[in-house]
Amino acid sequence: MVTWRELGSALLALVLPVGCAGCGQDDVAWCAVCRALLTGPPRRCEQRAGRLDRLGTRPDVPAWALADAVGPVRSLVVSWKDRGRTDLTGGLVGALAAAAVHVSPELGAAVAVCPTQSPLLVVPVPSTAAARRRRGADLVGLLARGVARALDEELGGRHGGTGARAVTVLRRRGGRDQVGLGRRARAENLVGRVRVARGVDLRALDGAPVLLVDDVLTTGATAAQCHEVLLRAGAVVVGLLVLASTPPPQEVPVDGPVRPGWPPVTQDSQVNPRVTRGRRLDSAPYRR
Ligand SMILES: [Zn+2]
Repeated sequence: MVTWRELGSALLALVLPVGCAGCGQDDVAWCAVCRALLTGPPRRCEQRAGRLDRLGTRPDVPAWALADAVGPVRSLVVSWKDRGRTDLTGGLVGALAAAAVHVSPELGAAVAVCPTQSPLLVVPVPSTAAARRRRGADLVGLLARGVARALDEELGGRHGGTGARAVTVLRRRGGRDQVGLGRRARAENLVGRVRVARGVDLRALDGAPVLLVDDVLTTGATAAQCHEVLLRAGAVVVGLLVLASTPPPQEVPVDGPVRPGWPPVTQDSQVNPRVTRGRRLDSAPYRR
């Protein structure tokens, strides 16, 4: 089913020049070089997200990312989330699903020691309702569904194993976008705002293994909130899987391979072309 937004993007692509959403290379939506940047296996990244270690004495929750959220990878994610490049959805979902398959042995081992026979619940880290409306879709939810499909196969859903399924059990209420907020402000903005969604049967969460899925891991504030809420509901969080993680400032290259002047003016009506033109997209903040 083609959405109006996708139809609009396709029509605009006819009149606007197409460029790789990562590096700006002409006439290709996502070039092979940038595609390779999100090809597995994923790497552990929980040590980068300071807020995750606020989980204190509880056992460590592993976090995996396919890439650093810098340069072309950052441009790809910003284009997808906030610049209407929904043509990237299939590729990004496929990349994260492949990453999930890479880590499925570890996930399977964690599921095996859970107190219930529940399938692995793949839970998207929630965006605000405003962000979902702006994007026209729950993009992280799409990632979670792709990951669950791949893991269901790996964990034997069709062969008597526990399998996996995507469930949207968390909601974020109120609060402002995390965009532009520092570490402390991000955490404070979130306090008490992540909740189990209305109508979710809490018995299904009790003792169930959960894999959290998100697009980018920045400070870990949102993931830590989700973890906390899920723990209180009795779930066992076995990991966090993201497309990219933000490296500490000292690791970020001063100048990446993104072409100066990229991106061109796009279909995002919220963007002032005079401001956008000539600005590197990887300096644009993420919106959640
Ligand atoms: Zn590229």
